[in-house]
Formats: sequence, C-alpha cells, structure tokens
Amino acid sequence: MQVTNEKPIRFTDELRLTPWWAIVLAGIGFVCMQFVFNVVIAREANAPPAWGRALLGIFVGFVLACYFLLIGYVSRDAGRRNMSRPLWTAVAILIPNGLGIVLYFILRQPLQNRCPQCGAGVQSAFHYCPKCSTKLHPSCPHCQREVQVGDKFCPYCGGSLSESHPAESAR
Ligand SMILES: [Zn+2]
Ligand SMILES: [Zn+2]
Repeated sequence: MQVTNEKPIRFTDELRLTPWWAIVLAGIGFVCMQFVFNVVIAREANAPPAWGRALLGIFVGFVLACYFLLIGYVSRDAGRRNMSRPLWTAVAILIPNGLGIVLYFILRQPLQNRCPQCGAGVQSAFHYCPKCSTKLHPSCPHCQREVQVGDKFCPYCGGSLSESHPAESAR
C-alpha cells in the first residue's frame, strides 16, 4: 500500500458519497432477506425456530445491505480518485465474496488534493503543481528532500528547518 499524506477522511463525508441507488438497493436487499427468512423458509419442513430465522434474516440482510452500499461507494470513490468507475464497479460486483471490494481498497489511488495556489487537482505524490509549479510539500532547504510540516530539523541531513522556508506557506 502507498504511504501518503492524505487528509484524514471523515466517516460522514464518506457516507454522503454513497449514491442514492446503493442506499435503495441496500434497503430492498434487507427487506427481501426478511421476507426470505421469515416467510419463505418458515414453510420448509425442517425450518429453524422463529427467533433463529429472525436473527438470520437480520444478519444476512445487514451483510447484503453493506455489500450494496460498498459497491455504490466504490463507484463514486473511484471517480474521485481518477480511476475508471465502470471498471471498478464491475470488479466490485463480479468478483465474488466481496473480494472485488477488498481489492479496490487495496489498489485505490490516493485521494486527489488541491493545489493551494491555483486549485488544480494534484496527487499527493506530486511535489510540484503541474499547472502552476507551486511547491506542494515542504522540503529541506539544504538537501531538498521532503520533510513534515512542523519538523525542526531535517531527518535526512540534520539541517535546521527553523528559518522560514517558502514551502511552508504553500501548505
Ligand atoms: Zn497550481
Ligand atoms: Zn536536509
């Protein structure tokens, strides 16, 4: 997996990303499972007791709902990350047991950041904005390697970073 300095992702923002059709499908899936377990299976000769069916129905319905929500999430999130939406939605749906979704979360590109100067989309691995050449990450003024905001000394060459370097204002 890539190590990135992505902004922390807020769960509510991610939830808002889930498209309405995935929420509708999740609801339908959940209701269908209640029907299957409490009505269809109840007619079987050796059906589990009522409480067992109710519990199973809720569990399976919940898993199914999560599955639909995740597929919806993948289809939106892929677009946000400059990845092919149709391709990854298909992968999420077609690879069984949710493995396509797992694969997506392993392989997904880092979230696009915005250039503080011109607002162009930039990947977090970029050091300079491709549109306006603004420096995107603070770097050591002595060895030019990337350092963290707030570091006092360069972890690579030990040089002092306390003098104001231009990159810090660019963050
Ligand atoms: Zn820029
Ligand atoms: Zn250095």
